[in-house]
Amino acid sequence: MPTPLKPRFDIFYRHDALTQLLFDYAAAHPQLVSVESIGKSYEGRDIWVATLTNLATGAPQDKPAFWADGNIHAAEVTASTAVLYYLHQLVDAYGSDGEPGRRITQLLDTRTLYLCPRLNPDGAELALADRPRHIRSSTRPYPFDEPAFEGLTVEDIDGDGRVLSVRIPDPHGTYKRHPQEPRLMVPREPGEFGGAYFRVIPEGTIKAFDGLSITVNRDPEGLDLNRNFPTQWRQEFEQVGAGPYPASEPEVRAMVDFFVGHRNIGAAISYHTHSGVILRPFGTHSDDEMIPEDLWAYQRFGEIAEKATGYPAISIFHEFKYHPKEVITGTQDWVYEHLGALFWVVEIWAPNKEAGITDYKWVDWYRDHPVEDEIKLLKWSDEQCGGKAHVDWKPFHHPQLGAVEIGGWDRLNYWRNPPPHLREREAARFPDWMTQVALSLPRLELLRTEVRALGPDTWRVRLAVANSGWLPAYISKRALQRKVVRGVMFEIHLPEDNPAISLVGGKQRIEGPQLEGHAPKHSLHAFVQGRDVTADRAVAEWVVRAPQGTRLALSARADRAGAVRTEVSLD
Ligand SMILES: [Zn+2]
Repeated sequence: MPTPLKPRFDIFYRHDALTQLLFDYAAAHPQLVSVESIGKSYEGRDIWVATLTNLATGAPQDKPAFWADGNIHAAEVTASTAVLYYLHQLVDAYGSDGEPGRRITQLLDTRTLYLCPRLNPDGAELALADRPRHIRSSTRPYPFDEPAFEGLTVEDIDGDGRVLSVRIPDPHGTYKRHPQEPRLMVPREPGEFGGAYFRVIPEGTIKAFDGLSITVNRDPEGLDLNRNFPTQWRQEFEQVGAGPYPASEPEVRAMVDFFVGHRNIGAAISYHTHSGVILRPFGTHSDDEMIPEDLWAYQRFGEIAEKATGYPAISIFHEFKYHPKEVITGTQDWVYEHLGALFWVVEIWAPNKEAGITDYKWVDWYRDHPVEDEIKLLKWSDEQCGGKAHVDWKPFHHPQLGAVEIGGWDRLNYWRNPPPHLREREAARFPDWMTQVALSLPRLELLRTEVRALGPDTWRVRLAVANSGWLPAYISKRALQRKVVRGVMFEIHLPEDNPAISLVGGKQRIEGPQLEGHAPKHSLHAFVQGRDVTADRAVAEWVVRAPQGTRLALSARADRAGAVRTEVSLD
């Protein structure tokens, strides 16, 4: 019995340690876990996917599958923690009694999970470096690759490993000290004058400073990998960070290729930080334009998500626009929009909620909120975070600006990611929901085989299968509309070199219907669910000429519901 692995969830693993951990899981549980590289990052790091399923009950590709990834945005490293946490729970609870062991055993016996803890390893490595940089991108310079000759480059300049803010006294400044809480910088009121004001800029060095003008340089790594997917992709002038063309970036290409090569994926979640919300499609259209059956499925799983995680589940278009007149395109929403698989983005962690601010809109709050909210946040920093979420201002001699102060909110460690002591608690919100979604995936099962003699060497062979999942085999009406899933494909396997065996009725490969799941069409059973009350079942039939006693292989596969293989004996 191998010693159980005990990863830490209060630290962030760098690439080498993450790699080691994943391979340790595979080595400790070879019947449940395998690890493969699905591609290499810009700098040549492997992008790892752990595949989890019980190999004794079938190969990964023969089972319906659920995908979870994290950390496509460089500094959102808690997203990796959430995926690792789930991986750990799956191997830890498999085969154990009680919950969640019972459900996880069923899950890994009947479904496959593809877990990609870190889609953007180069960017994460930079965020976790000893002198970190908080970019969003991978590390490929884009759209231009010249180094900056002027402007402010955001970086840690006092060597404390944090990138905070710099405040400079300035009568034209936007911020002032809060009257009761002078550590806090709060906005000046409209028409206000005569006080002590400050200009607040990011911590960093300024090249070619003329003594007056400061512009903050865009990161030379100006990609946003989550704008590089094929769905409604738009060029840079309309969509910042888009990349030169869809899936141009190796990290995005790896994920896209993996999905295209794994037609069994029926549902997927991408972890990000932060806001403490669960986001669903559409990002660019109103719910009125979603196929109602799909919307209802999203609403159902949204209710489950809210109950399981404590996060609200909302539409991106209706409730999570960064600007009310602008939409975001070229995103991982590709998974639903093109493939018709269920897809969510989870934005882990909400510091404002942590501080007791409950009544707020996720994006709008950052633009404008009452000053009292910041007092609450400061109190939270002092009492719960040892005063580290908001760092008190301290004098610093800035190489270009002279005497300034450095301090303010620590965005990477307390806003973009939860503080160490809360990371595991946040990551623990999601497994139950993910397990329930994955257990709802369609699953093809063998109902029965039948063989009937029609003559001394002529046989009627039937193969009946059923979808035992809650969801239909095609997952969503969107998938049908986009023609990305076929009906159940039946096949009879006849030996090619035996002239005594031939097919006299039926085709060797038969496309059957799309199988429904057991999701109710009406909650009240008295209202009939349509006429086709066994729409979860399908039967294929062949007439075969063959000597008595011949054994024949039969199979059935539904893209998103897995495969069934069996044998019949003609007698
Ligand atoms: Zn993100």
